Amino acid sequence: MSVIASDLLIDNARYTQSIKAGDYYLGTIKAGQTFRIVDLEGNQAADTLFFNANDPSERYSAMDTIREQSNVYLTTGSELRSNLNNVLLRIVADTCGRHDTLGGACATESNTVRYDLEKRCMHACRDSWMLAIAEHPEYGLHKRDISHNINFFMNVPVTPEGGLTFEDGISAPGKYVELTAVMDVIVLISNCPQLNNPCNGYNPTPVQIAVWD
Ligand SMILES: [Zn+2]
Repeated sequence: MSVIASDLLIDNARYTQSIKAGDYYLGTIKAGQTFRIVDLEGNQAADTLFFNANDPSERYSAMDTIREQSNVYLTTGSELRSNLNNVLLRIVADTCGRHDTLGGACATESNTVRYDLEKRCMHACRDSWMLAIAEHPEYGLHKRDISHNINFFMNVPVTPEGGLTFEDGISAPGKYVELTAVMDVIVLISNCPQLNNPCNGYNPTPVQIAVWD
């Protein structure tokens, strides 16, 4: 874990926005801008996808990122790589210490497998992403672009046997992660609405984003 605080002051941000639990954020971050996600109340999961804004077929790749850094967890110093092995963004500050990119986003299908058949109708991150791209066709994103993701603030430790476990969050109110864009990137966040997972304490809460030039 690499817990490093940022020098940037929220009062100097170009803009800030709150994202309610179950809502999404879709926006563009220019190369050189710094982008922060704040876990306002703690133990929330921000299910996030990144794309090259100039060619959205180039997207965040968990495999390329993990292979190049030889670490399954993301924290300060991690370079987030694309399916073309280019660096999209760098994590430059992190007061949580560890973020997941293995667990995947919740979907109605996985909810039935993990929890119960009757959970199928519950709101899931994949639905929020699909709603975002349907409401904003100007980004040029399609269903096929919804791929593997980062779960900021989510605690999914790998066991010694190589399994994955969903655990209580290690985040806390006000913890944040900060990334500097290396190229112009589209950011798509689903602020997870999940009610069945200990990662968010069974209680989805808002997150805040902030952008600095
Ligand atoms: Zn989710």
